[in-house]
Amino acid sequence: MTAPELHIAVDPDTEIDDVEIGRKLFAREIGFLKGVVGLDGLPEADRPEICFAGRSNVGKSTLINALTGRKGLARSSNTPGRTQELNFFTIPDAGYVVDLPGYGFAKAPKAKVDAWQALLRAYVAGRTTLARVIVLIDARHGVKDVDHTFMETLDRAAVVFQTVMTKADKPKKSALADSIAQTREALRRHPAAYPMILTTSAETGEGIPELRAHLAPLLT
Ligand code: GDP
Repeated sequence: MTAPELHIAVDPDTEIDDVEIGRKLFAREIGFLKGVVGLDGLPEADRPEICFAGRSNVGKSTLINALTGRKGLARSSNTPGRTQELNFFTIPDAGYVVDLPGYGFAKAPKAKVDAWQALLRAYVAGRTTLARVIVLIDARHGVKDVDHTFMETLDRAAVVFQTVMTKADKPKKSALADSIAQTREALRRHPAAYPMILTTSAETGEGIPELRAHLAPLLT
């Protein structure tokens, strides 16, 4: 008996035209603008922006690099340097893509974690041009307590967030289905959750065109 085909949670309504618009947008010369460590460093709120968030090691920088087709654009949270900053990238004649520091690093000193939480809360609550937060969830692990804590921050700030599964190539199909189901269930606790989950793999490219298609209207 053959296993039933897994339903991957990509948007069934994604049109070919949308995919092409997304491809073209992310094929522009996207550049690193600046790393921001405090609210006073934020660039002027004069264009739409989306930001990417997730637990450390969720595959955030790999996904941003896959979206933009630029290998070294976003840096891994394993690399020292840009990691505790909000990193702004500019899409020419469109908006900003913001890479937030990975959360849930157990080893980080409490004072650092508190400072980062405060900056994050102030950023998401006060940034009028923030169109959506993309919360990345590792397809092997599903939603963890630290993800809920972050999502609660977004609930309170009334900022819509969308969940994107990463590393979909890693789990077996049945485990992937379980983790998508767990994630869907977990999102029911969060009024700010956008109800569609996208599934991606930077390794195979699965879901990347759909994600670009989905993000493009928010940035233009
Ligand atoms: P970040 O800390 O969230 O920026 O995570 P990274 O992008 O540095 O990724 C953490 C690890 O996961 C790295 O070893 C990546 O190579 C790996 N990784 C990221 N995305 C994928 C994926 O789609 N598939 C697989 N198999 N590995 C991935």
